[in-house]
Amino acid sequence: MTLANAPKAGGQDVFTLPELPFAKNALEPHMSAETFDFHHGKHHNAYVVKGNELIQGTGLESLSLEDIVCKAKEQGNMPLFNNAGQHYNHSFFWNCLSPSGGGTPTGALLDKINAAFGSFEKFKEEFVNAGIGQFGSGWVWLVENNGTLEIAKTANAETPLTEGKKPILVCDVWEHAYYIDYQNRRPDFLKAFLEHLVNWDFAASNLS
Ligand code: MN
Repeated sequence: MTLANAPKAGGQDVFTLPELPFAKNALEPHMSAETFDFHHGKHHNAYVVKGNELIQGTGLESLSLEDIVCKAKEQGNMPLFNNAGQHYNHSFFWNCLSPSGGGTPTGALLDKINAAFGSFEKFKEEFVNAGIGQFGSGWVWLVENNGTLEIAKTANAETPLTEGKKPILVCDVWEHAYYIDYQNRRPDFLKAFLEHLVNWDFAASNLS
């Protein structure tokens, strides 16, 4: 996918906070408006603001967000990588959520899931277990690696982009993603994500 908010050069803000693709109360009771007030309005916004400070003068300002993330990592600019990576991951995550989400994928995506995991049920089990197994803050992904679907876990602001893998779907498993609605019950959040929230149309649109 191509994210909105094309970077701009020349001292202007490079990153902008995208609007949520749904009303902030539209995912209740699975994710509350209060969660989005903090997660989108405070956490994601802070990565955008800090990223805009850190990118000035790096020469990366006119690149795409994906290229900024990968170049910052290559160059060892971890402060910029962490903020740009979080901006990319969160922008991607909002698109993975839908008020009419959940259910079962169809077509080529379902075929690829069945080929990679044996069945959709097995995929769900592996995705939830990977999310539970990500120690501390991070992300659980469905990625395409040389045409094959895989589950991936990344810590903190890390993203499969830097390993040449194509993000198809992600769930944020930082505590700030679920603590207001689920307290410490990360498994319940992951199950709600798959049962009620996941936007399979968006995931399918990311297949190469
Ligand atoms: Mn987050």
